[in-house]
Amino acid sequence: MSGVLLSKEFGVNPSVTQCFYCGEDSGVALFGAGFKKKDERGNLVTAEAPRCVGVLDMVPCTKCEGYMKQGIILISVKDESLATLPEERAAHAREMDKHPEKYRRPFIPNPYRTGGFWVIKEDAIKRMLADGPLKELVLKHRWTFIEDSTAKEVGLIKPEENTNANIESDK
Ligand SMILES: [Zn+2]
Repeated sequence: MSGVLLSKEFGVNPSVTQCFYCGEDSGVALFGAGFKKKDERGNLVTAEAPRCVGVLDMVPCTKCEGYMKQGIILISVKDESLATLPEERAAHAREMDKHPEKYRRPFIPNPYRTGGFWVIKEDAIKRMLADGPLKELVLKHRWTFIEDSTAKEVGLIKPEENTNANIESDK
């Protein structure tokens, strides 16, 4: 527990974190006195951390770490939702640069997810992607978002598994 400055009021001040990849509870963050909120006068004061803080970083949970050893994680997102990511990443970097004294939060991309989650063998990814920097990045980081239409094209989602159709048939 070294490195955590205990809060007099809240002790280690724990909060559940979630895995960026699978969204499941991945661990506990101990904030101690490090969790701050603004009080009514706008001053930052130590506060009680919420029960769950969500995704704090891009570190995979143990399960996803295992998946990344076996292959590449593919996470489906809505079509066109990846187009704005470079701009969001740049805006985040600008925001961080404005306050260099503050803790640098990592950029966590958050396009609209559509629920598909696959682990694909590295060989399949190598066949799927053209040679180039993107392919190298995906192989290095062991995960990527995939837009629904692409997931259909490569056969991950069968045409009849269209999400809208499923909703219709549930009625
Ligand atoms: Zn995970």
